[in-house]
Amino acid sequence: MIIMKIIDVINQISEGAQATQIDRDHTVDKVIIGDEFQEVTGIVTTFMATIDVIHQTIKKNANLIITHEPTWFNGRDDHHWLENDPVYKQKRQLIENHNLVIWRFHDYMHAAHEDLIYKGFNEVMNWESYQLKGDSQSKNPLERANICYAIPETTIDDLLTVIKEKLNMEVVRYIGSPQASAKRVGLLLGGSSLGLGDEKNPMKLVNSQNLDTVICGDITEWTLSAYMRDAYMMGMNKTMIILGHEKSEEVGMSNIVPWIQSLISDVPVHFVEADEPFDYFYQ
Ligand SMILES: [Zn+2]
Repeated sequence: MIIMKIIDVINQISEGAQATQIDRDHTVDKVIIGDEFQEVTGIVTTFMATIDVIHQTIKKNANLIITHEPTWFNGRDDHHWLENDPVYKQKRQLIENHNLVIWRFHDYMHAAHEDLIYKGFNEVMNWESYQLKGDSQSKNPLERANICYAIPETTIDDLLTVIKEKLNMEVVRYIGSPQASAKRVGLLLGGSSLGLGDEKNPMKLVNSQNLDTVICGDITEWTLSAYMRDAYMMGMNKTMIILGHEKSEEVGMSNIVPWIQSLISDVPVHFVEADEPFDYFYQ
């Protein structure tokens, strides 16, 4: 067996993503912690390197975690502000004790020839053929992206049932009515519903694309949520479905496993669920 270094794994996957639009000087994708020149023993993909994900990685005898989102609680994974923080120090110690490497794979995924996070969602929902092309001339990044879908008309009740089952969710939050219908859907995964630079962008998208339904990851309650709620309260056929950041992007991370395994055949590649950040209190 050829000895393969973690750095070689990272390079192969980055190249394999064929992310032509990537800004190499400003990407958040980098080795977050660990020695990337060590031999790889196993690979874990996950939405986020939580403590539980780290423990499961150790159990699997893997030493490379490929995470979509940050390890150090901020978008650019800056850790200087945390040097004396007890949570940071203990997490870092755990990672170092087991010689793990954490690599962030975010921008390359979204900039891939086909956005790999959306690809995972499309595959799970069987929505590949319903995806519409964005308007490359638009100033609104949400309108430029391929995030709108013309799906066969369905009720919100049925759509929520399918989403709950396919994404393995305990509860699904929504605004609107289960009796409403869905056929023009905007998929605002991850942080997209925050607007990608301008919080007005999601509402402009709903209007210009005549969307009846938006499916969102992270949300702000006084922007798109308030807009969809007002629209619904005035009798319009508008629905918002809220998955949370983790559930909306996680299938993207599980569905890249076969692709990574095809690139890196010598060591096992696993997916580890990061799980929603919340518990639900029922009584
Ligand atoms: Zn993402």
